[in-house]
Amino acid sequence: MDFELSQEQTMIYEYGASLARTYDRTYWMEHAERRAFPEAMYKQIAADGFVGTMVPEAYGGAGLGMLEMELFLEGLSNQGIPLLSLVVGATMTLSMLSNHGSEAQKQRYLPAACRGDIRFCFAITEPDAGTNTIRASTIAKPQADGRFRLNGRKTYITDARESDYALVVTRTTPHTEVAKKTDGFTLFIVDMRAKGIEMHPIPVSIPLPETQYQVFFDDVELGPEDVLGEVGKGFGILFECLNPERICVGAIGCGLGRFAMDKAVAYANERVVFNGPIGAYQALQHPLARAKTEIELAALMARKAAWLFDRKQPCAPEANMAKYAAAEASIHAVDASLQCFGGNGFTKEYGIFDIFPLARLFKTAPLNSEMVLNYIGEHVMGLPRSY
Ligand SMILES: Cc1cc2nc3c(=O)[nH]c(=O)nc-3n(C[C@H](O)[C@H](O)[C@H](O)COP(=O)(O)OP(=O)(O)OC[C@H]3O[C@@H](n4cnc5c(N)ncnc54)[C@H](O)[C@@H]3O)c2cc1C
Repeated sequence: MDFELSQEQTMIYEYGASLARTYDRTYWMEHAERRAFPEAMYKQIAADGFVGTMVPEAYGGAGLGMLEMELFLEGLSNQGIPLLSLVVGATMTLSMLSNHGSEAQKQRYLPAACRGDIRFCFAITEPDAGTNTIRASTIAKPQADGRFRLNGRKTYITDARESDYALVVTRTTPHTEVAKKTDGFTLFIVDMRAKGIEMHPIPVSIPLPETQYQVFFDDVELGPEDVLGEVGKGFGILFECLNPERICVGAIGCGLGRFAMDKAVAYANERVVFNGPIGAYQALQHPLARAKTEIELAALMARKAAWLFDRKQPCAPEANMAKYAAAEASIHAVDASLQCFGGNGFTKEYGIFDIFPLARLFKTAPLNSEMVLNYIGEHVMGLPRSY
């Protein structure tokens, strides 16, 4: 086994640190507080070739793999500048388009997306179906002329209004009429400015520059040219992007944890309240050291999952474990860091408490930890299904 990163991979990992010299956590937080998308930073990331990390070079991308995307996101989050839109857009949507798009779709969308000229969001969650995607009821009804009419509702769609297109998970056959529960799903590329789309922001209590939206589709007209892959076969494509999503979230969780702990270590080495710096107290030091251990273990698993993915080997157990472990580790890391700061940890000036909501989100979304454990229990360990 070779754990050494290549020179290129090391540069990719370190990119976040160089980006942060211009676009740092303060810039990110300033946008998060206004819920304003950090356009200039995104454009810079695109210009530096990272939006298209996993897109083939022929379509304007870098032609690299999941491991490079994982390293890039770890490095960015190490600086406290995580971007959810890079997960739903750059990784999930662009990979699906690269792997399953028609030639016309690839020519039309990929180069522009890699340049940062257009953005994609990803819409799967529905208010009623929730975690149970099989029960999704957003329907793209086939018409006699070969076109489709889209009706339904999606919720918590990150960056929906600010994106140009959404990759929308629909049913073209209702779940009550399919032989196999995963049949009848179709993915559509939907122009977010199309007639019949309404969006309402959902105020969430997480400092994020991206806004979440409820999206309503009312008789939105779609054509066969908007179908990604085959009609009725969308679930297979969807399944492919779940592991990359978990790997990305694992990477971001690890980076956020490191960002909090770096701040805590600097503070605990300086702050003196009795004799010597507070960092010498084991009551502060051990939780930090434990969290550091958990973070590095989670990062190893995320990298392994990415490495397997790039070799087209099964990686679901590793991707799920990485996502679970990173969510737990980053919560522990932020909590241990917060304790070092005493009252200062809760101030805007020190900015530690602000990291907590996003770290905590990863226990619930994009897939809750209970479903991750269900997967590990059932599919990795062979225990009976509980739901
Ligand atoms: C900030 C944010 C951004 C998001 N971005 C997007 C996006 O861009 N696109 C998108 O499509 N969605 C997005 N989501 C939605 C997110 O993926 C869902 O909220 C998440 O998958 C959970 O679904 P739910 O909220 O319907 O919870 P529910 O399905 O109602 O589940 C509630 C709780 O029940 C428990 N639970 C459910 N099922 C089981 C089970 N079988 N066994 C044990 N426990 C169970 C879990 O603890 C779960 O947290 C986002 C959400 C947030 C908060």
